[in-house]
Amino acid sequence: MPDYQATADWARAQDATDPLRAFRDEFLIPPHEGHDSVYFCGNSLGLQPRAVREAVNAELDYWGELAVEGHFKGRLPWMDYHEFVRDDLAAVVGAKPSEVVAMNTLGVNLHLMMVSFYRPTKERHAILIEGGAFPTDRYAVESQIRFHGFDPATSLIELASDEPNGTISMAAIEHALAKHGHHVALVMLPGVQYRNGQVFDLKAITALAQKHGCMVGFDLAHAVGNLPLQLHNSGADFAIWCSYKYLNSGPGAVGGAFVHERHAKAALPRFAGWWGHDKTTRFQMGPQFVPTAGADGWQLSNPPILALAPLRVSLQIFRRAGMQALREKSLKLTGYLEWLVQTQLANVLQVVTPAEPERRGAQLSIRVIGGRERGRALFEYLMEHGIIGDWREPDVIRISPAPLYNRFADCLAFVEAVRAWSRID
Ligand SMILES: *Cc1c(COP(=O)(O)O)cnc(C)c1O
Repeated sequence: MPDYQATADWARAQDATDPLRAFRDEFLIPPHEGHDSVYFCGNSLGLQPRAVREAVNAELDYWGELAVEGHFKGRLPWMDYHEFVRDDLAAVVGAKPSEVVAMNTLGVNLHLMMVSFYRPTKERHAILIEGGAFPTDRYAVESQIRFHGFDPATSLIELASDEPNGTISMAAIEHALAKHGHHVALVMLPGVQYRNGQVFDLKAITALAQKHGCMVGFDLAHAVGNLPLQLHNSGADFAIWCSYKYLNSGPGAVGGAFVHERHAKAALPRFAGWWGHDKTTRFQMGPQFVPTAGADGWQLSNPPILALAPLRVSLQIFRRAGMQALREKSLKLTGYLEWLVQTQLANVLQVVTPAEPERRGAQLSIRVIGGRERGRALFEYLMEHGIIGDWREPDVIRISPAPLYNRFADCLAFVEAVRAWSRID
């Protein structure tokens, strides 16, 4: 553990020598009463990179000046626009470029992937998820089960937490698959659990699921841009994510999907659209759908250029920073916040996120000792004082220092605000 100290001098010195410190200036930090707020909500909506406005304006200008010809002309012709984000996206998730595509939003992509990778049979019809799954994930899998004529009462298997703070051990996953594996068609788990911040081991889960003959997909909403992922090596069949959280690509940003290379040319059932058609013959407009090999073959429509422009800019920042360097800082920064809470605020707060650094990302989920009402009161106090986190029912405050723009001084500001509140409370 670094020699953490709870002083402004120490925090300032860390910030001054942080190799990633310059990246903060590339973001718009929301103001609070004339100062920068302390923004710990990149797990929910990442901050706006300054370069986004110009990138979006450039596309508006091309539209104004070139109109339909913008598909083929301009610096970044719209026809190929989704390809301009592909390499950087692949680097962020640890995939081959042909395995990723930026398209749609998370929920849409989850359904599209399940069309291809959830193929229930009488013997093998179940989906295994975690009991505390995010609503979209739960609604999506339940509706797919019903759509195929099965009943969630018998075809939805939920992993219960077996650890004190609501987390799930590998042993519990192993146990569930040993018991139900023979009728599980699909294992669908998160990369990082949204409420408690637990990291799941994608590679180990994939190996286990495959041993039992199941397909495996991951929801990486809270993992992408947070952890250095190795999607290709994990062996997972598919993954999906959104880009407005740690990827900083703006509200409702274009999401993404990963399809493992081994499915690149497989004749999988899928919902098809013209943008997924082989690019070389797309404009022959023939009646026969011929999918592009790789993840691109799952595209339905020509993409929203104005929404892809921020993603392109944002991914360039990730390329320059590098996921490994971001993770290194993140471990130190979140480690500092946890150390502060434990040494300075142990009588007020309790961290529910796993303590092992390899079992968490940037986010700490925090409970206020004394119950939900005190928790709400502290949360509101923090928001009023420009310390921005978010609240998850029933009693969790999520605080996520993002290594691209958060500072050690921000972590200290959080502690000072909690202390001030606990004095008046
Ligand atoms: C944020 C999040 C979503 C959001 O889905 P959208 O389709 O982007 O609205 C879904 N699942 C999880 C686990 C999330 O964290």
